[in-house]
Amino acid sequence: MSRPLAITHATVVTGDARGTLLEDRTITVDDSGLITTVAPTAQVEVPVGARVIDATGRFVQPGLINAHAHLFSDGKPLKPVLADPRVGTLVARFLRGPIGQRWLLGKTRNAVETQLNTGVTTIRSVGDPGYEVVQVDREIREGRLLGPRLIPSGPLLAIPGGHGAPQIALIGADADTVRKHVRRSLSRGVRAIKISATAGVTDAKEVGYAGRPEMTEANMRVICEEAHQAGVLVAAHAQGADGIRAALRAGVDTIEHGANLTDDIIDLFKNNPSSLRGFSALIPTLMACLPLVKLDRAITGANEVAKVNAEMIFEEMLGGIRIALECDILLGMGTDSALTFVTHYNTWRELDFLIRYAGLTPAQALHAATQANARILGVEDVTGAVEPGRAADLVVTSANPLTDIRTLDHPISVVVRGHVIDHPKVERFAELDQLIDQF
Ligand SMILES: [Zn+2]
Repeated sequence: MSRPLAITHATVVTGDARGTLLEDRTITVDDSGLITTVAPTAQVEVPVGARVIDATGRFVQPGLINAHAHLFSDGKPLKPVLADPRVGTLVARFLRGPIGQRWLLGKTRNAVETQLNTGVTTIRSVGDPGYEVVQVDREIREGRLLGPRLIPSGPLLAIPGGHGAPQIALIGADADTVRKHVRRSLSRGVRAIKISATAGVTDAKEVGYAGRPEMTEANMRVICEEAHQAGVLVAAHAQGADGIRAALRAGVDTIEHGANLTDDIIDLFKNNPSSLRGFSALIPTLMACLPLVKLDRAITGANEVAKVNAEMIFEEMLGGIRIALECDILLGMGTDSALTFVTHYNTWRELDFLIRYAGLTPAQALHAATQANARILGVEDVTGAVEPGRAADLVVTSANPLTDIRTLDHPISVVVRGHVIDHPKVERFAELDQLIDQF
């Protein structure tokens, strides 16, 4: 239960792709945290006992939805030893043990609190070391912790030696093993399944390796069938056309990162009979890649192979986004938080990069992060818009985010399920921010 709320005289930024603004609106919220009215202020009677926030001169938009997050670290450069395949098994065993899990629970609580304090009210995790995000999700649902809505994945599924394996992955090469992994994760309470369809930038062994197909289409199909039976969507890390095509054919619901898309792939996105709902969506993530492209290797610690691969993947991702816009493929937003240089408070930067590097209008970027992401993740009845019947997941800013996206860096308040955070605060890493400010 939360206290009934009325936000008066607000300019509502609806989050549609055209950038519609509604002037001088009053939003009322009941004690269950649902929006009950959005109407011109003069027509609304503020309920007795409601807390009133005068939003004259302020902008109110739907809470941001981060469709691609990891929560195991804070975004400062990861220690290379953690990604070293030679110690990977030890790292994975430690992280899934009692001490590692306790440590990860602390990290996860901090991470979701930081995202919430910068306006992110829904987070899908897509690759966790263990089931710590499921645990934090439970704490939030039971009201023990004020946090965003979580859609946890648990560990992703990868082939032996594949992307994310074994630190944040369950490993399997045959149909029975991957089926067992999906069932185990579902029984542990995950509400998303993530797989590595192709290799990635960080583990590339040679130039051009990053988008190489890894998981077989047959195994991906087994995973999708198991997940879909439980009503759970499947996300695939996929960075090359062949891997994307195989993943979509197998029934994957969201392609993470992406690449240039051929005509047959475009058709599969828009009409995908094997997916849960008949369509698939694209979730690009620019922020994790851009530092590797822009910064000196002495700063990023990346080797030459990783840098060249990052440049290739970044161009491919931009190509995929442009095609998605042209061809009306559902386009979402994710940050790849917790990876090196991707902090939990910098979600606004992903929108900024989508605008400046990929050519989205500010309205399209905000739409991707709100209404479109809600539809993509299947929570459009619950959140993603400032409309009666949806949860009061809102961000109040001093400037119009459509003309000044950086205003989301320091919201005046954040509302999650009707609970108001009045003075959102986060711990920042000034050195890291200065580096990214140069891009
Ligand atoms: Zn990721």
